[in-house]
Amino acid sequence: MTPAMPDSLWAATAPPGPECPPLTSDDTADVVVVGAGYTGLSAALHLARAGRRVVVLDAGEPGWGCSGRNGGQVNPGGVKVLPEDVLATLGPVWGERLIEFGDRSCDLVFELIERYGIECEAVRPGYVSGGYGAKGRRFNREWARQWSARGCEVRFLEHDEIADLIGTRRYDSGMHDARGGSVQPLAYARGLARAAVEEGAVIHGASAATAIERNGAGWSVRTDRGSVGCEFVVLATNGYTGGLWPELRQSVVPVASFVTATAPLGHNVLPSVLPGRHAVSETARVIVYYRLDRQGRFVIGGRGRWFDVDDRGDASHVRAAALRLFPQLEGVDWEYHWAGWPAMTRDHLPKLLALDRCIYAGLGYNGRGVASATLMGQQLANVILDESEPLVEVRGPERFVFHRYRQIGISYRMLAGSLLDRLDRRGAA
Ligand SMILES: Cc1cc2nc3c(=O)[nH]c(=O)nc-3n(C[C@H](O)[C@H](O)[C@H](O)COP(=O)(O)OP(=O)(O)OC[C@H]3O[C@@H](n4cnc5c(N)ncnc54)[C@H](O)[C@@H]3O)c2cc1C
Repeated sequence: MTPAMPDSLWAATAPPGPECPPLTSDDTADVVVVGAGYTGLSAALHLARAGRRVVVLDAGEPGWGCSGRNGGQVNPGGVKVLPEDVLATLGPVWGERLIEFGDRSCDLVFELIERYGIECEAVRPGYVSGGYGAKGRRFNREWARQWSARGCEVRFLEHDEIADLIGTRRYDSGMHDARGGSVQPLAYARGLARAAVEEGAVIHGASAATAIERNGAGWSVRTDRGSVGCEFVVLATNGYTGGLWPELRQSVVPVASFVTATAPLGHNVLPSVLPGRHAVSETARVIVYYRLDRQGRFVIGGRGRWFDVDDRGDASHVRAAALRLFPQLEGVDWEYHWAGWPAMTRDHLPKLLALDRCIYAGLGYNGRGVASATLMGQQLANVILDESEPLVEVRGPERFVFHRYRQIGISYRMLAGSLLDRLDRRGAA
Protein backbone atom coordinates (compact mmCIF):
# COMPACT_ATOMS: atom_id res chain seq x y z
CA MET A 1 0.00 0.00 0.00
CA THR A 2 1.29 3.50 -0.84
CA PRO A 3 2.00 5.48 2.32
CA ALA A 4 -0.31 8.51 2.33
CA MET A 5 0.96 11.96 1.37
CA PRO A 6 0.76 14.39 4.28
CA ASP A 7 -2.30 16.61 4.28
CA SER A 8 -0.42 19.61 2.89
CA LEU A 9 -1.29 22.66 0.84
CA TRP A 10 0.78 21.17 -1.97
CA ALA A 11 -1.11 17.85 -1.95
CA ALA A 12 -4.39 19.79 -2.04
CA THR A 13 -3.41 21.97 -5.02
CA ALA A 14 -0.97 19.96 -7.21
CA PRO A 15 -2.16 18.41 -10.48
CA PRO A 16 -2.01 14.59 -10.46
CA GLY A 17 1.23 12.84 -11.39
CA PRO A 18 1.65 10.00 -13.88
CA GLU A 19 0.37 6.51 -13.10
CA CYS A 20 3.09 4.66 -11.15
CA PRO A 21 1.88 1.09 -10.50
CA PRO A 22 3.84 -1.04 -8.03
CA LEU A 23 6.50 -3.46 -9.24
CA THR A 24 4.83 -6.90 -9.26
CA SER A 25 7.29 -9.04 -11.27
CA ASP A 26 10.97 -9.33 -12.18
CA ASP A 27 12.43 -6.89 -14.67
CA THR A 28 15.77 -5.65 -16.00
CA ALA A 29 17.16 -2.19 -16.63
CA ASP A 30 20.44 -0.39 -17.22
CA VAL A 31 19.90 1.69 -14.08
CA VAL A 32 17.65 1.32 -11.04
CA VAL A 33 16.98 4.55 -9.15
CA VAL A 34 15.73 4.18 -5.57
CA GLY A 35 13.77 7.28 -4.50
CA ALA A 36 11.47 9.44 -6.63
CA GLY A 37 12.23 12.90 -5.29
CA TYR A 38 14.03 15.58 -7.29
CA THR A 39 17.38 13.73 -7.11
CA GLY A 40 16.05 10.41 -8.38
CA LEU A 41 13.62 11.89 -10.90
CA SER A 42 16.20 14.23 -12.39
CA ALA A 43 18.73 11.36 -12.61
CA ALA A 44 16.08 9.18 -14.28
CA LEU A 45 15.05 11.94 -16.68
CA HIS A 46 18.62 12.65 -17.80
CA LEU A 47 19.54 8.97 -18.10
CA ALA A 48 16.38 8.10 -20.05
CA ARG A 49 16.95 11.10 -22.31
CA ALA A 50 20.39 9.65 -23.09
CA GLY A 51 18.77 6.37 -24.12
CA ARG A 52 19.31 4.29 -20.94
CA ARG A 53 16.56 2.00 -19.69
CA VAL A 54 15.73 3.28 -16.22
CA VAL A 55 13.44 1.89 -13.53
CA VAL A 56 12.61 4.12 -10.55
CA LEU A 57 11.33 2.59 -7.30
CA ASP A 58 9.71 4.65 -4.56
CA ALA A 59 8.27 3.43 -1.28
CA GLY A 60 5.51 6.05 -1.66
CA GLU A 61 4.96 7.98 -4.90
CA PRO A 62 6.88 10.68 -6.79
CA GLY A 63 7.32 13.63 -4.40
CA TRP A 64 6.28 11.65 -1.31
CA GLY A 65 9.45 12.67 0.60
CA CYS A 66 10.88 16.16 1.02
CA SER A 67 10.32 16.96 -2.65
CA GLY A 68 6.56 17.15 -2.15
CA ARG A 69 6.66 18.83 1.27
CA ASN A 70 9.19 21.65 1.09
CA GLY A 71 8.77 25.42 1.08
CA GLY A 72 9.17 25.57 -2.70
CA GLN A 73 12.01 28.09 -2.57
CA VAL A 74 14.43 27.77 -5.45
CA ASN A 75 17.49 28.95 -3.54
CA PRO A 76 20.47 30.31 -5.46
CA GLY A 77 24.05 29.24 -4.77
CA GLY A 78 23.22 25.58 -4.17
CA VAL A 79 24.50 25.76 -0.60
CA LYS A 80 24.20 28.37 2.14
CA VAL A 81 27.97 28.64 2.40
CA LEU A 82 29.89 31.61 1.03
CA PRO A 83 31.97 30.84 -2.09
CA GLU A 84 35.23 31.72 -0.30
CA ASP A 85 34.34 29.29 2.50
CA VAL A 86 33.55 26.57 -0.06
CA LEU A 87 37.03 27.13 -1.52
CA ALA A 88 38.58 26.98 1.94
CA THR A 89 36.83 23.65 2.66
CA LEU A 90 37.24 21.89 -0.70
CA GLY A 91 40.34 23.53 -2.16
CA PRO A 92 40.66 25.34 -5.49
CA VAL A 93 39.63 22.52 -7.87
CA TRP A 94 36.56 20.96 -6.24
CA GLY A 95 35.72 24.24 -4.52
CA GLU A 96 35.45 26.04 -7.89
CA ARG A 97 33.42 23.14 -9.25
CA LEU A 98 30.95 23.22 -6.36
CA ILE A 99 30.61 26.98 -6.77
CA GLU A 100 29.75 26.38 -10.43
CA PHE A 101 27.27 23.72 -9.26
CA GLY A 102 25.63 26.32 -7.02
CA ASP A 103 25.54 28.90 -9.75
CA ARG A 104 23.94 26.56 -12.31
CA SER A 105 21.37 24.90 -10.07
CA CYS A 106 18.47 27.41 -10.26
CA ASP A 107 18.85 27.73 -14.04
CA LEU A 108 18.42 23.98 -14.48
CA VAL A 109 15.14 24.00 -12.52
CA PHE A 110 13.62 26.77 -14.64
CA GLU A 111 15.01 25.26 -17.89
CA LEU A 112 13.40 21.87 -17.15
CA ILE A 113 10.11 23.54 -16.24
CA GLU A 114 10.13 25.34 -19.56
CA ARG A 115 11.38 22.44 -21.69
CA TYR A 116 8.77 19.99 -20.37
CA GLY A 117 5.95 22.52 -19.83
CA ILE A 118 5.71 21.68 -16.11
CA GLU A 119 2.71 23.44 -14.50
CA CYS A 120 4.07 24.29 -11.04
CA GLU A 121 3.38 27.99 -10.37
CA ALA A 122 7.01 28.83 -11.17
CA VAL A 123 8.01 32.46 -10.56
CA ARG A 124 11.49 33.98 -10.58
CA PRO A 125 11.45 37.42 -8.92
CA GLY A 126 14.63 36.55 -7.00
CA TYR A 127 15.47 35.32 -3.53
CA VAL A 128 15.84 37.62 -0.52
CA SER A 129 17.87 36.96 2.62
CA GLY A 130 16.93 38.87 5.81
CA GLY A 131 19.71 39.49 8.34
CA TYR A 132 19.72 40.19 12.06
CA GLY A 133 22.56 42.07 13.75
CA ALA A 134 26.21 42.28 12.78
CA LYS A 135 26.46 38.58 11.89
CA GLY A 136 23.56 38.80 9.42
CA ARG A 137 24.91 42.01 7.90
CA ARG A 138 28.32 40.42 7.37
CA PHE A 139 26.80 37.36 5.67
CA ASN A 140 24.52 39.37 3.37
CA ARG A 141 27.30 41.78 2.43
CA GLU A 142 29.75 38.97 1.71
CA TRP A 143 27.21 36.95 -0.29
CA ALA A 144 26.52 40.01 -2.45
CA ARG A 145 30.22 40.86 -2.82
CA GLN A 146 31.47 37.36 -3.58
CA TRP A 147 28.73 36.38 -6.05
CA SER A 148 28.73 39.81 -7.75
CA ALA A 149 32.48 39.38 -8.30
CA ARG A 150 31.55 36.22 -10.24
CA GLY A 151 29.17 38.17 -12.48
CA CYS A 152 25.90 37.26 -10.70
CA GLU A 153 23.06 39.75 -10.16
CA VAL A 154 23.15 40.02 -6.37
CA ARG A 155 22.88 43.18 -4.25
CA PHE A 156 23.18 44.04 -0.59
CA LEU A 157 20.14 45.78 0.98
CA GLU A 158 20.13 48.26 3.85
CA HIS A 159 17.35 48.08 6.47
CA ASP A 160 14.98 50.47 4.61
CA GLU A 161 15.57 48.78 1.26
CA ILE A 162 14.66 45.29 2.46
CA ALA A 163 11.68 46.72 4.36
CA ASP A 164 10.36 48.35 1.15
CA LEU A 165 11.02 45.20 -0.87
CA ILE A 166 9.32 42.59 1.32
CA GLY A 167 7.12 44.53 3.75
CA THR A 168 8.67 43.80 7.16
CA ARG A 169 10.90 46.15 9.13
CA ARG A 170 12.32 43.39 11.33
CA TYR A 171 15.63 42.96 9.50
CA ASP A 172 18.79 44.98 9.94
CA SER A 173 20.02 44.18 6.47
CA GLY A 174 19.22 42.06 3.45
CA MET A 175 20.39 40.71 0.13
CA HIS A 176 18.56 40.18 -3.17
CA ASP A 177 19.79 37.43 -5.46
CA ALA A 178 18.09 37.53 -8.86
CA ARG A 179 18.76 33.84 -9.61
CA GLY A 180 16.14 32.52 -7.15
CA GLY A 181 12.38 32.05 -7.22
CA SER A 182 9.76 29.57 -6.15
CA VAL A 183 7.66 26.64 -7.36
CA GLN A 184 4.75 24.55 -6.12
CA PRO A 185 7.09 21.79 -4.97
CA LEU A 186 4.85 18.73 -5.37
CA ALA A 187 3.63 19.94 -8.76
CA TYR A 188 7.29 20.32 -9.78
CA ALA A 189 8.11 16.77 -8.56
CA ARG A 190 5.11 15.30 -10.38
CA GLY A 191 6.04 17.30 -13.49
CA LEU A 192 9.58 15.87 -13.37
CA ALA A 193 8.08 12.39 -13.00
CA ARG A 194 5.86 12.94 -16.04
CA ALA A 195 8.85 14.23 -18.03
CA ALA A 196 10.97 11.21 -17.02
CA VAL A 197 8.18 8.87 -18.16
CA GLU A 198 7.89 10.78 -21.44
CA GLU A 199 11.62 10.22 -21.95
CA GLY A 200 11.11 6.47 -21.41
CA ALA A 201 11.75 5.88 -17.69
CA VAL A 202 9.47 3.49 -15.78
CA ILE A 203 8.38 4.58 -12.27
CA HIS A 204 6.93 2.20 -9.69
CA GLY A 205 5.21 3.65 -6.63
CA ALA A 206 4.43 1.66 -3.45
CA SER A 207 7.64 -0.28 -4.16
CA ALA A 208 10.11 0.01 -1.31
CA ALA A 209 13.52 -1.42 -2.17
CA THR A 210 14.28 -3.98 0.52
CA ALA A 211 17.69 -5.31 -0.58
CA ILE A 212 20.46 -4.73 -3.11
CA GLU A 213 22.24 -7.94 -4.04
CA ARG A 214 25.04 -8.90 -6.41
CA ASN A 215 23.70 -10.53 -9.56
CA GLY A 216 26.47 -11.82 -11.84
CA ALA A 217 28.43 -8.80 -13.04
CA GLY A 218 25.65 -6.44 -11.97
CA TRP A 219 23.08 -5.91 -9.21
CA SER A 220 19.55 -6.88 -8.35
CA VAL A 221 17.29 -4.52 -6.42
CA ARG A 222 14.51 -6.32 -4.58
CA THR A 223 11.09 -5.20 -3.41
CA ASP A 224 8.47 -7.32 -1.63
CA ARG A 225 6.82 -8.29 -4.91
CA GLY A 226 9.57 -8.28 -7.53
CA SER A 227 13.13 -7.39 -8.42
CA VAL A 228 15.05 -5.47 -11.09
CA GLY A 229 18.41 -6.65 -12.38
CA CYS A 230 20.69 -3.82 -13.51
CA GLU A 231 24.23 -2.59 -14.10
CA PHE A 232 23.97 0.63 -12.05
CA VAL A 233 22.05 1.64 -8.92
CA VAL A 234 21.36 5.22 -7.81
CA LEU A 235 20.28 5.75 -4.21
CA ALA A 236 18.30 8.98 -3.97
CA THR A 237 16.66 8.56 -0.57
CA ASN A 238 18.10 11.64 1.24
CA GLY A 239 16.49 12.25 4.68
CA TYR A 240 14.34 9.12 4.24
CA THR A 241 17.36 6.83 3.95
CA GLY A 242 16.65 3.68 5.94
CA GLY A 243 18.59 0.48 6.43
CA LEU A 244 18.92 -0.41 2.73
CA TRP A 245 22.59 0.63 2.73
CA PRO A 246 23.51 1.21 6.39
CA GLU A 247 26.68 3.24 5.67
CA LEU A 248 24.61 5.73 3.68
CA ARG A 249 22.25 6.28 6.56
CA GLN A 250 25.18 7.27 8.76
CA SER A 251 26.45 9.88 6.32
CA VAL A 252 23.58 12.31 6.97
CA VAL A 253 21.40 13.51 9.83
CA PRO A 254 17.71 14.10 9.05
CA VAL A 255 16.28 17.13 10.91
CA ALA A 256 12.53 17.77 11.13
CA SER A 257 11.30 20.84 9.28
CA PHE A 258 7.76 22.27 9.37
CA VAL A 259 5.65 24.30 6.97
CA THR A 260 2.33 26.03 7.61
CA ALA A 261 0.06 28.01 5.27
CA THR A 262 -2.71 30.55 5.79
CA ALA A 263 -5.94 30.85 3.84
CA PRO A 264 -5.60 33.24 0.84
CA LEU A 265 -4.91 36.67 2.37
CA GLY A 266 -7.64 39.29 2.08
CA HIS A 267 -7.22 42.52 0.12
CA ASN A 268 -6.72 44.44 3.38
CA VAL A 269 -3.53 42.45 4.15
CA LEU A 270 -2.16 41.04 0.90
CA PRO A 271 -0.64 44.22 -0.62
CA SER A 272 1.53 44.77 2.48
CA VAL A 273 3.05 41.26 2.62
CA LEU A 274 5.78 40.28 0.13
CA PRO A 275 4.50 42.67 -2.57
CA GLY A 276 7.17 41.43 -5.02
CA ARG A 277 6.34 37.75 -4.31
CA HIS A 278 9.96 37.04 -3.33
CA ALA A 279 11.12 33.85 -1.63
CA VAL A 280 12.70 34.91 1.67
CA SER A 281 14.81 33.21 4.33
CA GLU A 282 17.00 34.41 7.16
CA THR A 283 20.64 34.42 8.14
CA ALA A 284 19.77 33.19 11.66
CA ARG A 285 20.99 29.91 13.12
CA VAL A 286 17.43 28.52 13.39
CA ILE A 287 15.85 30.09 10.34
CA VAL A 288 12.38 30.59 8.98
CA TYR A 289 11.66 30.83 5.24
CA TYR A 290 8.52 32.20 3.63
CA ARG A 291 6.74 33.21 0.42
CA LEU A 292 3.23 33.59 -1.05
CA ASP A 293 1.62 30.91 -3.21
CA ARG A 294 -0.25 31.77 -6.39
CA GLN A 295 -3.55 32.25 -4.50
CA GLY A 296 -1.94 34.65 -2.02
CA ARG A 297 -1.56 32.26 0.90
CA PHE A 298 1.35 33.08 3.22
CA VAL A 299 3.50 29.93 3.43
CA ILE A 300 6.20 29.80 6.11
CA GLY A 301 8.49 27.02 7.29
CA GLY A 302 11.25 26.44 9.77
CA ARG A 303 12.48 24.23 12.53
CA GLY A 304 10.36 23.59 15.62
CA ARG A 305 9.84 20.69 17.96
CA TRP A 306 12.33 17.98 17.00
CA PHE A 307 11.24 14.92 19.00
CA ASP A 308 8.28 12.63 18.21
CA VAL A 309 7.49 14.40 14.95
CA ASP A 310 4.79 12.92 12.71
CA ASP A 311 3.74 14.02 9.21
CA ARG A 312 1.72 16.93 10.64
CA GLY A 313 4.29 18.23 13.08
CA ASP A 314 3.81 21.21 15.36
CA ALA A 315 3.91 24.56 13.58
CA SER A 316 3.32 26.81 16.59
CA HIS A 317 6.90 28.21 16.63
CA VAL A 318 6.73 28.99 12.96
CA ARG A 319 3.36 30.77 13.24
CA ALA A 320 4.72 32.86 16.12
CA ALA A 321 7.65 33.86 13.87
CA ALA A 322 5.18 34.84 11.11
CA LEU A 323 3.35 37.21 13.47
CA ARG A 324 6.64 38.74 14.64
CA LEU A 325 7.55 39.51 11.04
CA PHE A 326 4.10 40.55 9.79
CA PRO A 327 1.84 41.59 12.71
CA GLN A 328 -0.93 42.26 10.15
CA LEU A 329 -1.34 38.44 9.89
CA GLU A 330 -2.92 38.42 13.37
CA GLY A 331 -6.32 36.72 13.11
CA VAL A 332 -5.80 35.09 9.68
CA ASP A 333 -6.81 31.44 9.35
CA TRP A 334 -4.01 28.89 9.17
CA GLU A 335 -5.32 26.14 6.89
CA TYR A 336 -2.49 23.60 6.69
CA HIS A 337 0.60 22.38 8.49
CA TRP A 338 2.88 19.46 7.79
CA ALA A 339 6.43 18.22 8.36
CA GLY A 340 9.30 16.51 6.54
CA TRP A 341 12.90 15.39 7.05
CA PRO A 342 15.62 17.08 5.01
CA ALA A 343 19.13 15.63 5.40
CA MET A 344 22.07 17.58 6.83
CA THR A 345 25.76 16.90 6.27
CA ARG A 346 28.69 17.66 8.55
CA ASP A 347 30.19 20.42 6.39
CA HIS A 348 26.79 21.70 5.06
CA LEU A 349 27.79 20.65 1.53
CA PRO A 350 25.92 18.11 -0.69
CA LYS A 351 27.48 14.70 -1.36
CA LEU A 352 27.88 12.48 -4.41
CA LEU A 353 28.99 9.12 -3.00
CA ALA A 354 30.34 5.96 -4.62
CA LEU A 355 29.11 3.18 -2.32
CA ASP A 356 30.32 0.17 -4.30
CA ARG A 357 31.10 -0.66 -7.92
CA CYS A 358 28.37 1.04 -10.01
CA ILE A 359 26.33 2.12 -6.95
CA TYR A 360 26.07 5.86 -6.39
CA ALA A 361 24.15 8.14 -4.04
CA GLY A 362 23.41 11.87 -4.14
CA LEU A 363 22.10 13.54 -1.00
CA GLY A 364 22.61 16.03 1.82
CA TYR A 365 21.26 19.35 0.56
CA ASN A 366 20.93 20.88 4.03
CA GLY A 367 17.41 22.20 3.38
CA ARG A 368 18.25 23.65 -0.07
CA GLY A 369 17.44 20.78 -2.37
CA VAL A 370 14.87 22.14 -4.82
CA ALA A 371 17.65 23.47 -7.03
CA SER A 372 20.62 21.41 -5.84
CA ALA A 373 18.88 17.99 -5.83
CA THR A 374 17.69 18.67 -9.39
CA LEU A 375 21.26 19.39 -10.48
CA MET A 376 22.64 16.50 -8.41
CA GLY A 377 20.35 14.15 -10.36
CA GLN A 378 21.87 15.41 -13.59
CA GLN A 379 25.39 14.99 -12.14
CA LEU A 380 24.61 11.40 -11.11
CA ALA A 381 23.46 10.75 -14.67
CA ASN A 382 26.71 12.27 -16.00
CA VAL A 383 28.79 9.99 -13.78
CA ILE A 384 26.93 6.91 -15.06
CA LEU A 385 27.06 8.07 -18.67
CA ASP A 386 30.74 8.89 -18.15
CA GLU A 387 30.21 12.04 -20.17
CA SER A 388 32.01 14.77 -18.27
CA GLU A 389 33.72 15.28 -14.93
CA PRO A 390 30.99 16.00 -12.32
CA LEU A 391 30.73 19.33 -10.51
CA VAL A 392 30.65 17.50 -7.16
CA GLU A 393 33.56 15.25 -6.22
CA VAL A 394 32.70 11.54 -6.13
CA ARG A 395 33.74 10.26 -2.69
CA GLY A 396 33.30 7.31 -0.39
CA PRO A 397 30.71 7.64 2.38
CA GLU A 398 31.69 9.85 5.32
CA ARG A 399 30.22 8.82 8.63
CA PHE A 400 28.91 11.27 11.19
CA VAL A 401 30.88 10.57 14.36
CA PHE A 402 28.40 9.86 17.19
CA HIS A 403 25.58 9.32 14.64
CA ARG A 404 23.77 7.27 17.27
CA TYR A 405 23.54 10.36 19.52
CA ARG A 406 22.34 12.67 16.75
CA GLN A 407 19.09 13.66 18.50
CA ILE A 408 21.04 14.99 21.45
CA GLY A 409 23.38 16.91 19.14
CA ILE A 410 20.45 18.40 17.20
CA SER A 411 18.62 19.36 20.40
CA TYR A 412 21.69 21.13 21.74
CA ARG A 413 22.30 23.03 18.48
CA MET A 414 18.64 24.09 18.22
CA LEU A 415 18.51 25.32 21.78
CA ALA A 416 21.81 27.19 21.66
CA GLY A 417 20.98 28.56 18.19
CA SER A 418 17.54 29.81 19.28
CA LEU A 419 19.01 31.61 22.30
CA LEU A 420 21.77 33.28 20.26
CA ASP A 421 19.24 34.23 17.54
CA ARG A 422 17.03 35.84 20.19
CA LEU A 423 19.97 37.99 21.27
CA ASP A 424 20.70 38.97 17.65
CA ARG A 425 17.02 39.88 17.07
CA ARG A 426 16.99 42.01 20.21
CA GLY A 427 20.01 43.88 18.87
CA ALA A 428 18.23 44.34 15.54
CA ALA A 429 14.82 45.47 16.84
C1 LIG B 1 9.59 20.99 5.37
C2 LIG B 1 10.71 21.14 4.37
C3 LIG B 1 10.94 22.38 3.80
C4 LIG B 1 11.97 22.53 2.85
N1 LIG B 1 12.07 23.72 2.18
C5 LIG B 1 12.95 23.82 1.16
C6 LIG B 1 12.94 24.98 0.32
O1 LIG B 1 12.12 25.87 0.47
N2 LIG B 1 13.88 25.07 -0.65
C7 LIG B 1 14.78 24.06 -0.89
O2 LIG B 1 15.62 24.19 -1.78
N3 LIG B 1 14.76 22.92 -0.16
C8 LIG B 1 13.86 22.77 0.84
N4 LIG B 1 13.80 21.60 1.53
C9 LIG B 1 14.72 20.51 1.19
C10 LIG B 1 14.31 19.78 -0.09
O3 LIG B 1 12.94 19.49 -0.06
C11 LIG B 1 15.12 18.49 -0.22
O4 LIG B 1 16.50 18.78 -0.13
C12 LIG B 1 14.86 17.77 -1.55
O5 LIG B 1 13.49 17.62 -1.79
C13 LIG B 1 15.56 16.43 -1.53
O6 LIG B 1 15.13 15.69 -2.64
P1 LIG B 1 15.54 14.17 -2.76
O7 LIG B 1 15.01 13.70 -4.05
O8 LIG B 1 17.01 14.01 -2.54
O9 LIG B 1 14.83 13.45 -1.52
P2 LIG B 1 13.28 13.22 -1.19
O10 LIG B 1 12.41 14.13 -1.94
O11 LIG B 1 13.16 13.21 0.29
O12 LIG B 1 13.00 11.77 -1.76
C14 LIG B 1 13.47 10.59 -1.16
C15 LIG B 1 12.53 9.48 -1.60
O13 LIG B 1 13.15 8.24 -1.28
C16 LIG B 1 12.10 7.32 -1.04
N5 LIG B 1 12.67 6.15 -0.35
C17 LIG B 1 13.38 6.10 0.80
N6 LIG B 1 13.76 4.85 1.06
C18 LIG B 1 13.30 4.07 0.04
C19 LIG B 1 13.39 2.68 -0.28
N7 LIG B 1 14.03 1.80 0.51
N8 LIG B 1 12.80 2.25 -1.41
C20 LIG B 1 12.14 3.10 -2.23
N9 LIG B 1 12.04 4.42 -1.97
C21 LIG B 1 12.61 4.90 -0.87
C22 LIG B 1 11.08 8.10 -0.24
O14 LIG B 1 9.79 7.53 -0.35
C23 LIG B 1 11.17 9.48 -0.91
O15 LIG B 1 10.15 9.70 -1.86
C24 LIG B 1 12.81 21.42 2.51
C25 LIG B 1 12.56 20.18 3.10
C26 LIG B 1 11.51 20.03 4.01
C27 LIG B 1 11.22 18.68 4.60
